[in-house]
Order: sequence, then C-alpha cells, then structure tokens
Amino acid sequence: MILTRVRCARVLQLTLAIIKPDAVAHPLILEALHQKILENSFIIVRRKDLIWRRSDSERFYAEHKGRFFYQRLVEFMSSGPMRAYILAREDAITHWRELMGPTKVYRARYTSPRTIRAQYGLTDTRNTTHGSDSPESAEREIAFFFPEFSVQHWLEM
Ligand code: ADP
Repeated sequence: MILTRVRCARVLQLTLAIIKPDAVAHPLILEALHQKILENSFIIVRRKDLIWRRSDSERFYAEHKGRFFYQRLVEFMSSGPMRAYILAREDAITHWRELMGPTKVYRARYTSPRTIRAQYGLTDTRNTTHGSDSPESAEREIAFFFPEFSVQHWLEM
C-alpha cells in the first residue's frame, strides 16, 4: 500500500516513530523530542505511551535475531516506558530518519552532530529513537503498535 494522501495540497506520508526508553526516562529529553516533531511540521496522527513485554521486543526486532546486540536490544526495549507516534508529513519516513541521524551514536556525533541521536543518544543500542525505514516497514510497524488504526480509512478521510 502507498502510505500517502493529499491534504491542503500537501502529499502526506505516514511513518512510525518511537521515543525509546532511554529518552522517555528523562522528561526534558522527552519534551524536547516532542517539540522537535512539532517544529518539523509533522502531524501527530496517533500517540501512545506503553511498556513492551520481552516477547513484543523479540517480535519487533526479529530480523536482528542472531546479531551480537540482539539480546541487549531486546532487554533494553522492554526495560521501561516508551512512546510511539504515527506521524504524517511530506516525505515523513526520510525526514524523520534524517532528524534521528545514524544508528550508531558515536558516528552520529562525529558526522551529524545536530541530529537527535548525536545530541541525546547514550550508546549504539540506547540510541533514543526509532523510525520506519520504508513504506512497507511503516505499514507493518503502524499495525504492530496501533492495530486499531486503519491506514486505509485515514488515507480516504
Ligand atoms: P535503525 O534503528 O537506525 O533503523 P537498525 O534497524 O539497524 O537501525 O537497528 C535497530 C536497533 O538495533 C538500533 O536502533 C539500535 O538500537 C540497535 N543496534 C543496531 N546496530 C547496533 C550495533 N552495532 N550495536 C548495538 N546496537 C545496535
């Protein structure tokens, strides 16, 4: 499915963004990231605060099973509250990933110091945020976090 719709002459795309437990644990960082979303002209379509069970974490990151950081990642993502958003704007997927910066925090600090991960990330695993990397993963991840949300219905509104 193509996750776009036209609103006021804007072609909106949906993405799934997560503020991970390391950032949610710090209210000022959580607030700064929420403001960053608003300042960057994203529409907040849905928002949810939640805590994952370990099994949720394993399911969401199944593609990384077997990688050296998998256990660490699974434990971290189920270690405390996180916040998930469905965001909409033009090129939402690319734009949010550009704001996040590279996966690895130390690389982000070196190559893109103004990005979220460079500014707030703690380690390569505890790297503050997640963003879908393609329309297909956005659709899958939106359904994972917001099973009650109908992309089709939203596109047609
Ligand atoms: P991204 O979140 O940038 O799309 P990936 O999908 O490759 O990156 O990885 C998912 C998550 O796994 C990362 O956000 C990070 O928390 C963790 N991770 C990825 N690579 C590493 C690594 N080399 N060392 C530690 N943790 C990692």
